[in-house]
Amino acid sequence: MLYIFPILFALGVFSLTSFAQTDDEQIVRGQIVCVQLDETGTAGVSEEFTECSGLIYLLGVDGNLYSLHGSEEEMQKIKQGSKSRMGYRLPLRLKGKTVGHQRAWQIYTPSLDPEDSSIKTLVTGTVLCLFPNYNAGTVNPKVADGPCNEAEPHAHFIKTDEGKIYALQGSLEDIESIEKTPDRENITLTGVLKANNSGWILYVN
Ligand SMILES: [Zn+2]
Repeated sequence: MLYIFPILFALGVFSLTSFAQTDDEQIVRGQIVCVQLDETGTAGVSEEFTECSGLIYLLGVDGNLYSLHGSEEEMQKIKQGSKSRMGYRLPLRLKGKTVGHQRAWQIYTPSLDPEDSSIKTLVTGTVLCLFPNYNAGTVNPKVADGPCNEAEPHAHFIKTDEGKIYALQGSLEDIESIEKTPDRENITLTGVLKANNSGWILYVN
C-alpha cells in the first residue's frame, strides 16, 4: 500500500501546476468602451466606435474594470466586433491574461506578451480617475479635486500635453500613493511603457 502515496503526491503536484496554468488565461465577458482625447485634449468616452486612438476598457461582468491590450491586429478585430447590432451592444467574450488588482486591472489578449516591450520613461501630465458604471456599460473620466483613495475602486490614466494617454498600472502601494496625491495636474511619473500604439500602459515604479 505504501507505494501509492508517492504517486498520489506526484499527481497532486501535477494537477496543481496545470490548474495554475489554465487559470492564467481566462475568459472575461463585458462591454468595451473607448477613452480618447479630442482636439482640445479633453478625455471623452465612446461606447460605440470602430476606431480608438486612446485606450479601450472592458467593463467585466466580473465587476472589474480592465484596460485592454493586444497586438494591433487583434485590437483592430475587437474594435470591429464591438459594433452594436440593431441598437443593442453585444457583450464581448474576450480571452486573455488578467493582471493587476482592484485599483488597476489589465487584460492582455493571447497575442500580446507585454514583457516584450518595456521602455523606461518619464511621463508628465494630468492623472485622471476612471470610474466604472457597470449598469450603463460606460466609464466616467474625471480629474479628482483631492485624494481619491476613499472612493470606490476605479482605474487611472495619465494624459500628456502632447495628446498621449497611458493606462496606469503598478503595485497597490504605488497606485494608492498616486490616489493620495491631492493635485492631479502637471504630475511626473516614472515607469516602464508596455504594450503598443493600440493602447499604452505606464507601469509606475
Ligand atoms: Zn482616482
